Amino acid sequence: MPEACWCEEQETGNKMKTVILGGTVYDGSGGPPVEQDILVENGRILDVGRFSYIEDAVRINAAGKAVTPGFIDAHRHGDFAVFTDKGLGEAELAQGITTMLVGNCGMSAAPTGRAFRKQWYDFLEPCLGKPPGTEGWDTFPQYLDQLEKTDLPLNVGALVGLGSVKTAVKGFSPEKWTEEEMKAGQKLVTEALEAGAWGISCGIMYVPECYWSSKEYIELLRPAAVYKRPLCCHLRGEGDGLEAAVEETAGIALEAGLALHISHFKVTGRKNWKKTLPRVIEKIRRYREEGQDITVDFYPYTGGSTTLLTLVPPCCQEGDMRAVLNRLSAKEGVRRLRKELLKDHPGWENMVKAIGWERVIISSVVTEKNREAQGLTLPQICERYGDEDEAASMARLLVEEEGKAGIIVMSMDPEDVETAAKLPYGSVISDALYGAPDFPHPRLYGAFARVWSEYVMKQGILSPQEAVYKMSGLPAGRFGLEDRGLIQKGRRADINVFDPERFCDTATFTCPVRLAEGMDTVLIDGQAVWENSRWTGRRQANALRAGKG
Ligand SMILES: [Zn+2]
Repeated sequence: MPEACWCEEQETGNKMKTVILGGTVYDGSGGPPVEQDILVENGRILDVGRFSYIEDAVRINAAGKAVTPGFIDAHRHGDFAVFTDKGLGEAELAQGITTMLVGNCGMSAAPTGRAFRKQWYDFLEPCLGKPPGTEGWDTFPQYLDQLEKTDLPLNVGALVGLGSVKTAVKGFSPEKWTEEEMKAGQKLVTEALEAGAWGISCGIMYVPECYWSSKEYIELLRPAAVYKRPLCCHLRGEGDGLEAAVEETAGIALEAGLALHISHFKVTGRKNWKKTLPRVIEKIRRYREEGQDITVDFYPYTGGSTTLLTLVPPCCQEGDMRAVLNRLSAKEGVRRLRKELLKDHPGWENMVKAIGWERVIISSVVTEKNREAQGLTLPQICERYGDEDEAASMARLLVEEEGKAGIIVMSMDPEDVETAAKLPYGSVISDALYGAPDFPHPRLYGAFARVWSEYVMKQGILSPQEAVYKMSGLPAGRFGLEDRGLIQKGRRADINVFDPERFCDTATFTCPVRLAEGMDTVLIDGQAVWENSRWTGRRQANALRAGKG
C-alpha cells in the first residue's frame, strides 16, 4: 500500500528542508574547498551548488565559516559509555564527531563468556569505564541490538575485539587454542561480522592476546576474509618491537586475506625517537607497493593512555587477576616485579624501561585513598605515599585498585607524531578512553579540534582539506561507511559548520575535562544536534551496522 508507506515517511522522516548558505565547503575528499550552498532534505544531502531561494527551508548562514562532513572517529572506547554516560555526546559533538566506532584494541563489550565476563570487564574498566549493570549481553548481535534500542547522541558502530572473543572462549589462559576452541572462536567472529561489525580489532600487546602466535591469529581469522572488513591492530610492540610488530601483523593480514589498519601508529621509547618510524614507514610503503592494503591512524598528542596493568611483564601476569594481585601484595612478588622491570622481555614491550618512571602519570583510580595520586608521576607518588621505590608504588596501586588504575605515558616525540600525521593513508582518531571521567587523557575532549587548530591553523603541518579528509572521507572509505564522510549529493547530511579561526581544543594533560570551542552547528541526518555553539540534547542518531546501510 503506497499511501501507508508515504504516511509513515511523513511521520518518521525529516521532511524539513535546510539550506546551508555561503560556507567554504571542504567536501571530505581532500579536494580544495569551494564556496557553495548545501541543500538538505529528509536527512540527506539533496544538492550542492548555488541556490538563490529555497522555499520553506531553515537557513543556516555559513558565510566566513568552514563547512565539513561530520567527523568520523573510528577509535573511541565508548562501548559502555553509550549506555552509562548520560553526558556522552557533548564532548564528541563539540569537536564535530558525528560517528564513532567502538570495540577497538581487541576490547569490545561483546562477545563475553558468562564464566569470564566479570574478569574481562574488570580488565576493560580502566579503558571502557564501568559496565552497565550485570545483565549485559553475551553475544555481539545482542550488543548491537542493545545499541539500536538506545537513544544515541551520535552515530555508533562497533568492531569485534579478538581479546573479547578469546576471553569468551577460554578466559585469560596462556594455553594454546585447541581445535574445538578455535572453532568456537571462529564462530564468534563470523557471528559478529554477520551481525554488522565494521571490522575486527586486536590488541596483541595485551593479555590475553599476547600469548598467541601468528598461526593462531591466521587460523581464527580465516573465515572472516569473505566479509571484506579491515583488521584493526593494536600492535604487539610500539617501541623497540615496532618494526617486528608491523611485520607480524602485515603477515597475519596477508595470510588471512584481510585489509590491515594499524591503530594509533606511533613509536614510543626515547631511543627510538626520530629513528624507528621512518624505517617502519618505508617498510609499509613497500608492502603497499606490492599491493597489500594497509592504512593507519594517529592521535595528535605525544602522550598515550593505557592501564597500569599493561606495564607489568607477562611473566608476572600468569593466572587470573586475583592470582596476579595476590603475588603483588607480597614482598616476594614486588621483588620479582622490580627485577623483571629492569630486563628486556622478548615479544613484549617494557615501557618502564623505555621511557622511565618520570614519564608515567597515574590518570585514574577507583579508591578514595589513592585519589591524590591522580595526575602525579610514579616518582611523585612514591615520595607522597612513602613507598620503597616506584616498583613498590606500582604494585601497591595495582593491589589497592584491584588492577583498575589508568595511566598516561609521555612516550612520544612531537616530530614522530607529525611524521605519522602527514601520511596520506593516515586518518585521525581520538583513542578516547572513558574509564577516568575526572581525569581522562585530553584527547577525549580535544583530539579532532586539536588537529584543526594546532596542525592546520597554527603549525601548518596539514592543509585544511587534508585534515578534513583524514577526519571524514578517509575513515569512511576505510570502514565502508558509504553513506557518510563526504558532502556529496545523496549522502546522509552529517555536517559541521565552524569558524576556522576559533575552532580549537582546550583540554590539556593537567586540565583535561574541557570542551572544544568554536563549533557553531552540527547536523546528523539533517537534524541540528549542536546549535548556537551548544548541544541541543537530541539523541536521535543511529546504531550503524556494516553491510546494512
Ligand atoms: Zn589501542
